[in-house]
Amino acid sequence: MIVGGGASGISAAKSYLDRFGPDKKVLILDALPDFGGHSHRNEFHVPNLADGGADVMTLRNGGTVNLDSIGTWNQDGPNGIPGAWGQPAVDFLAWAGVDTATGTKWQNGGAAGIPASYGLYQRLLFPAAEFGTDHVIAGRNVGPFAGQEPGTAAGWAAFLARTPYSQAAREAIVRVQTANDDFFANAPGAPLTMEQKRAYLTAITYKQYLQDHAGVNDEAFYGEYWRGSGSLLGAGGQAVSAADCWILGRPGFPDATGLGDTEDIELAGIGRTPFQDSRSFSGNTRAWPDGNTSLLRLAISKLIPNAFSDVNVGAGPQRPDQLSILKSQCHYDQLDLPSNVIRIRLNSTVFNVEPAGGGGYSPVDYVMNNVEGIHTYQGGGKALRVAAKHVIMACWNRVTAHVVQELPPAQVRGLCYARKVPLIYGRVGLNNWRAFADSKVASVAPRGTTLFWDSFSISAGAGFGPTATPGKYYGPTPNQPPEAPAQLTFTVVPNHPDAIPQLFAYSTGQQMLREMSWEDLEDSVVDLIDRTVNKEGGDFDPARDIHDWRINRWSYGYAHELTSTFDPSAYGPVEQQPQFIGRQPYKNVAIANSDSEAFAYTHSAINEGHRAVQDLPSS
Ligand SMILES: Cc1cc2nc3c(=O)[nH]c(=O)nc-3n(C[C@H](O)[C@H](O)[C@H](O)COP(=O)(O)OP(=O)(O)OC[C@H]3O[C@@H](n4cnc5c(N)ncnc54)[C@H](O)[C@@H]3O)c2cc1C
Repeated sequence: MIVGGGASGISAAKSYLDRFGPDKKVLILDALPDFGGHSHRNEFHVPNLADGGADVMTLRNGGTVNLDSIGTWNQDGPNGIPGAWGQPAVDFLAWAGVDTATGTKWQNGGAAGIPASYGLYQRLLFPAAEFGTDHVIAGRNVGPFAGQEPGTAAGWAAFLARTPYSQAAREAIVRVQTANDDFFANAPGAPLTMEQKRAYLTAITYKQYLQDHAGVNDEAFYGEYWRGSGSLLGAGGQAVSAADCWILGRPGFPDATGLGDTEDIELAGIGRTPFQDSRSFSGNTRAWPDGNTSLLRLAISKLIPNAFSDVNVGAGPQRPDQLSILKSQCHYDQLDLPSNVIRIRLNSTVFNVEPAGGGGYSPVDYVMNNVEGIHTYQGGGKALRVAAKHVIMACWNRVTAHVVQELPPAQVRGLCYARKVPLIYGRVGLNNWRAFADSKVASVAPRGTTLFWDSFSISAGAGFGPTATPGKYYGPTPNQPPEAPAQLTFTVVPNHPDAIPQLFAYSTGQQMLREMSWEDLEDSVVDLIDRTVNKEGGDFDPARDIHDWRINRWSYGYAHELTSTFDPSAYGPVEQQPQFIGRQPYKNVAIANSDSEAFAYTHSAINEGHRAVQDLPSS
């Protein structure tokens, strides 16, 4: 029995058969109406008015984007940073049929599909709530200013003169972006050696560093530097470690600071993502248009072959491979057949697991969610029970702490130590991108803290080269005219701008998501378009131009990665870290999920699924 059908649960299913034999029966229960957990596929079908109304399928990732830094996967880092368990993820890719040797990214970035001749470019929005009136301006060195505002002090000054920032904020931004100064000159105990500077950075936030040492005021910090850390570190610059920001290349750490090279760094307390990033030169990245859902679909097509159709991409019907899996249809009604070796039961929320010792069976209780449509199950709101020889908890650690009975208090504390990072990836299927062509808006980056979204951008499909024919596996093809379908992407990692420590910052973001209805979220996107695209010459009409929405609201998103600034155990051995204490097996129950490695990656989820299977008793 596996609780949770994300990357970790699916990898655990595979590892279970490897360890206990291919004839063993495995049931995966997941609370959601789809498998994949954070790996979620957004599939759009929009009639192409530029092509007689032909159906255009576009795919996007609703969650997990790509396989990061594959070459780093089995390299150990300091303080228990994962590596020792890296091989299972490498093996999982090979078993699933993913070619990791190809040196090119599969997915092109940027506004793919939009012909360059339309000259779309980035805008910045300085909202009225903070800047008196809305200011919409071109980003630095783009559009009409391309080539005129290079990354020099003069180039930055020219750009900042177009913004509503005060003179003090402009000077601070120029300093952070271009001055080659030693910002540690006023640090406690200065002058500091390189090692002392690095250690000092692990103890302070990015905001503290910029404000105390680079002379940045609130206006410049919240305008330019608050949002950028969210996508990788899960919170704004007020809450994240300055050391992690340095390693990730955030602004403000010029050569003259004397911090040295970030490659091969072994710094106590360093975050896991920064560590991985510092080595990512050695690793390829892989991306499918629907994110790592393709990896999991590929895996399920092997574990439950009847659930995925053959695909004909030119040479007759074939079993799906790493490319054609995009086109293969999932037959959801095949996922839970009694004849399957592996069964996946969706819409099933587990609320009670009773561990059993001595080779006994565990009662596992769940309810079928009342979801109309795709899946119809028995249950009628009543609890259902299965008995399991082994149980793997591949859901979230806080859920495990509540659901599994009898766990020792220290283990429960370990499981409940962290919270998840909330975030939203939103997509809008557009009937056309005419308003964007007319306004030349490619993307919008809000400034300040009062606007909800971190960014939005337009694309008309993404390339899937070099070996696939664009349009063959999904559409639309590149270079689409403004009358063709397109997609808007809008993202946010919400948190209160003053919230510390980092775990509390997540709570403030989760609270924001709880307080916003779907209508609120949709309205805020339309409002942003109105205040930018329509102000710049577009005529965006939501009723006419929007085909449909996918708002992937991950209230329980990234696993928390220990941070040097607020998690003292980040400096210590892994055995004393909460995720390690929390993931210990108990009787016939083992604990998987990326939370168990405190590392928000697909490879981490796979490794933990494999490790949990090895933790199970042999009988
Ligand atoms: C928006 C986003 C973007 C990301 N981008 C990347 C990326 O680009 N690259 C990368 O490597 N990683 C990325 N990650 C992280 C990566 O997606 C995760 O680390 C990984 O997918 C986690 O897999 P998992 O199986 O451990 O957990 P999940 O995917 O969270 O799966 C857990 C499952 O448990 C189920 N569950 C929970 N409670 C219960 C219950 N009581 N009963 C039954 N089922 C339950 C949930 O429904 C869920 O499906 C991203 C994550 C998010 C949220």
